Amino acid sequence: MRWSARQRAMLQAMGLRMWDAPPSSGPGADPDGGEPAAAAASPVLQAKAAAPGLARDERSERRPDSPLPERARGEVGPLLPEATDAGTLDWPALRAAVSSCRACALCESRTQTVFGTGNPDADWMIVGEAPGMHEDRLGEPFVGKAGQLLDVMLHAIGLTREPGPAARQVFIANTLKCRPPGNRNPLPDELARCEPFLVRQIELVRPRVILALGRFAVQALLRSNEPIGRLRGHLHRYHGVPLVVTYHPAYLLRNPLDKARAWDDLRFALEVWRRCDTECEHRPRQAEAIPASE
Ligand code: SF4
Repeated sequence: MRWSARQRAMLQAMGLRMWDAPPSSGPGADPDGGEPAAAAASPVLQAKAAAPGLARDERSERRPDSPLPERARGEVGPLLPEATDAGTLDWPALRAAVSSCRACALCESRTQTVFGTGNPDADWMIVGEAPGMHEDRLGEPFVGKAGQLLDVMLHAIGLTREPGPAARQVFIANTLKCRPPGNRNPLPDELARCEPFLVRQIELVRPRVILALGRFAVQALLRSNEPIGRLRGHLHRYHGVPLVVTYHPAYLLRNPLDKARAWDDLRFALEVWRRCDTECEHRPRQAEAIPASE
């Protein structure tokens, strides 16, 4: 299996070095060398050692090993502002409801809400945790160094935030639409009150796959206190949509040795997306381009 120049550039940008496996004539081999990066058979990937003084991202004070606030494991009730039923809103009404929301105390400290961005018909939905300082200022999710790494991760499996077919595009949102002050950890009540907005976004996008990034997003969506290490590598579902777990790019900036695991997760997500041909009853596939590398 040969890696194209583009694939090598993407993986190296993620901080992964690779050695080509011996040429294979078995399943997955592509005689033209045009195999999608994420479908590659058994590449040996190794994260680079952490560079001394590696820059911490803008949300670095949210420590990955800090305890998760205990969250009720039962169903989260509708806790939206009175007279607001997110489950009936279209995109403009949902955006307006988020921007005017005062359902939790985060409305007091935010600069603006961060609704989410991307193709509303995208096959992929990326769900992160909460806006950081730059996101709060710009009103966009995943900006700054973590956003740059997310872009590289997406490109590595043929996805992009840039205009393109739905199969290549993503819709990106967070579990919280407002920044916790000082980038503190989200509180259970904040997550519960904000969740109906995310649920409605998922209903409107109808993604084939949700890629959940980071411990807080993952544990909030899955109602679990298990560490990501135990949740990744398994197929989960959120409101019926297949969900794959991986690390938050901000975590990967601090822990580059885990980039190889993140790469495994991305390949798994791509495989789930492909299986959606037969398993995604919530969104029958239409004739459209599929992600493929040059
Ligand atoms: S975090 Fe969510 S629930 Fe809280 S004020 Fe912002 S939009 Fe409303």
